[in-house]
Amino acid sequence: MSFDNLGLSPKVLSAVTAAGFETPTPIQLSAIPLAVAGKDVLGIAQTGTGKTASFVLPMLTRLERGRARARMPRTLILEPTRELAAQVAEHFEILGKNHKLTVALLIGGVSYDDQNRKLDRGADVVIATPGRLLDHIERGKLLLNGIEILVVDEADRMLDMGFIPDIERICKLLPFTRQTLFFSATMPPEIKRLADKFLHSPERVEVAPQATAAATIVQRLKKAPDDAAGKREALRELMREIDVKNAIIFCNRKKDVGIVYRSLQRHGFSVGALHGDLDQHQRTATLDAFRNGTIAFLAASDVAARGLDIPDVSHIFNYDVPIHPEDYIHRIGRTGRAGREGFAAMLVTPKDFKALKAIEKMLKQEIPWIDGATALAETSEASESRTNGNGNGRNRGGGRSRRHKGPPGKSDQVTQPHRNAGNGNGANKRDDHRHDATHSQHKHHGERKETQRPAAHSAPAPVERPARPTAQPASSKGQQGMGDHVPAFMMRPVRIP
Ligand code: ADP
Ligand code: MG
Repeated sequence: MSFDNLGLSPKVLSAVTAAGFETPTPIQLSAIPLAVAGKDVLGIAQTGTGKTASFVLPMLTRLERGRARARMPRTLILEPTRELAAQVAEHFEILGKNHKLTVALLIGGVSYDDQNRKLDRGADVVIATPGRLLDHIERGKLLLNGIEILVVDEADRMLDMGFIPDIERICKLLPFTRQTLFFSATMPPEIKRLADKFLHSPERVEVAPQATAAATIVQRLKKAPDDAAGKREALRELMREIDVKNAIIFCNRKKDVGIVYRSLQRHGFSVGALHGDLDQHQRTATLDAFRNGTIAFLAASDVAARGLDIPDVSHIFNYDVPIHPEDYIHRIGRTGRAGREGFAAMLVTPKDFKALKAIEKMLKQEIPWIDGATALAETSEASESRTNGNGNGRNRGGGRSRRHKGPPGKSDQVTQPHRNAGNGNGANKRDDHRHDATHSQHKHHGERKETQRPAAHSAPAPVERPARPTAQPASSKGQQGMGDHVPAFMMRPVRIP
């Protein structure tokens, strides 16, 4: 398969070749011909599958006709973060190198003057975050009645960041006859509602099923203790253990991003940090240093790293188990992109078992433990194909439902001790982080706080992992009352015969 028969113009095709794109990704293959033909497209595909080029290439082709007028851009792309907006602008630079298009990047943290100059001269393409775009509109610097194509990109992230009302406002200012291209990694109901409202008989293009990780990513787990110092040591072990070229280290909270960053620096790692409190200049500088290899590691929070286009990250380290399972997919989607091999390892403390189970349930796959894999060097391949493959004798779903035989209320007992045991002061702890949340809410409401929301599926207390097929029924009794305490033997990796 090549880009040749998708309806793209010769100028666009030559830039695609120059960019080194040889084969279209599945979403590109399906979405490009529809978008070139002027249809509304609803594109759903996981992170890292090339959604950006799915709209940039057809837009370039369609923009070859007609020209820009001052303050009346012809196309508008909405992005949830400044980084993502900047990355789309880069795509236009590279893929649009044969076009003389003016691209205006309207993002926060940058002066209005430059942006205004671009708009006054006449921009063909406006790439914007919703807030800054509305600011420009309110200042009378921008008219949206000339918009021919609207792109709403990373729609599920827009939802996470509370931008849906802004998008609705913006959509109402656009001509009814425009073409709309709508992209998202997932389709929660609120996003579906938005798509139904603003797309006209769209062609729905859905590529990978939701909640799957690229098959090229090797995933592993590593045991870590509960205490922060021990956990950081486990992280360093992980980083030294494996042949790492460059890696992103994900933390659940921005506070921990700072702590991990400083700790790694003290231990001589070449590291940068990315979180919501840094200004645009700092973020760009850090990202550039990471992209060009000046720093090898990047400690980051989910929001700061969302959708980042860093082509060759060899490893992902999850310092924390993400609270929401879908974040796991987004995080590890930073490696193993465009068919390359990637490696993702995650630290798991005894408190994380429930969140881990929720992730494995979503993946429909158990993630092997790194320690077990090293101990069993030759069999690790076999265990991998067993966990990934279907049709092996081990039916986890069946085992799980048997364990849940008890009355429905019982599973609540499992969720309850999930709060920090040993602290003895659960109530205060909660107040603290609620305070923390409101404190910085207005600054960047997208940053995820340490919410101790129980996982959607309340898993039973930790069980030995790769169990023999006959081992499951034995666990149906006396296991749920174990609470937070996990005996050491349960944390030990199990040898696969
Ligand atoms: P998404 O928006 O789906 O998360 P991106 O559009 O950011 O993904 O693309 C991820 C990476 O894949 C980018 O580095 C991009 O340059 C690269 N890429 C996209 N399409 C192709 C292709 N057809 N061949 C090779 N690399 C590609
Ligand atoms: Mg994207």
